[in-house]
Amino acid sequence: MSRILELRKTLEAKEQPANWGTKSASVTATLMSWNSFFGTIILTEDAPAGVGDQLLITIAEAISDMKYVRGRLSAIVSAMNKSSWKIKVNCQDTFLTDPEEKEGKDEAGNTIKYRVFKDSRTTDSAGTVKVSTASSMCQDSTKVSAWTFYNDVTAMQEMTLCPSALSRWGETTLTSTANSQSALKAKKLNALKRKAGAEIILHELTHSKAIHGQDKKTRDETFPVTDEDGNEKEVQAYGFDNVRGLAFFDPAAAITNADSYGLFALDEAMYYDACVWDEGVCTGVDKSGTFTGAHFDY
Ligand SMILES: [Zn+2]
Repeated sequence: MSRILELRKTLEAKEQPANWGTKSASVTATLMSWNSFFGTIILTEDAPAGVGDQLLITIAEAISDMKYVRGRLSAIVSAMNKSSWKIKVNCQDTFLTDPEEKEGKDEAGNTIKYRVFKDSRTTDSAGTVKVSTASSMCQDSTKVSAWTFYNDVTAMQEMTLCPSALSRWGETTLTSTANSQSALKAKKLNALKRKAGAEIILHELTHSKAIHGQDKKTRDETFPVTDEDGNEKEVQAYGFDNVRGLAFFDPAAAITNADSYGLFALDEAMYYDACVWDEGVCTGVDKSGTFTGAHFDY
């Protein structure tokens, strides 16, 4: 979070790269990551107007986005530090049984499909849990790592870490790869994400209605791509390539996308700061690199 604040303050103060001084390495690295994860910022008048359908963001938009993203992360930190705030963490979801398919309207009036499960942990007749058909549960697929729901009956946030992910994290942990250039060179951020329970937990916490409220909790956003046959399909913005794709085509949606937060934090704030991950791979260029953009037109 401190790196986002540093970049934001640099942009607000309209400081030129030539004057970044000792903070040059960290501002450069954060800027490159921000461009990749949350949308490329227009910093010079003669910058290319985006590539193809790329949407660029203005400095004013970037500053506002940085406040928003920090706000979400701060809300998580402050919830974690409050003894009154609780979350129930489950290690399977087999207690949810007897799904019934239903259709309803969301707040915007769009038709949505969802499933209603019985919560077999309670005999309360109101003890049902609504799950969107779009979101996947552990019982849907072993590829699912975790999911989150707000339990209306207990008024409690619940998170489920799936058995397949728990056994994976038992064998390969994040800390089994050293935070050094030699250990990380050519490693992919996606591969590290598979080891990173912390990334998944942060992703899930950004979905929390109890922390962020209905309006500011993240979603798993999608964006349209055209396949080889020319058909348009929606892709879910999970994993580095798709998170980057979302930032490229729809930066406004990137700041409400859970995995964008998880991966940005994995890159920037939590672990593996020995690399610049803006290409999703540790190329061996470390965060001491200097930015080549000589001048910004603020
Ligand atoms: Zn999610």
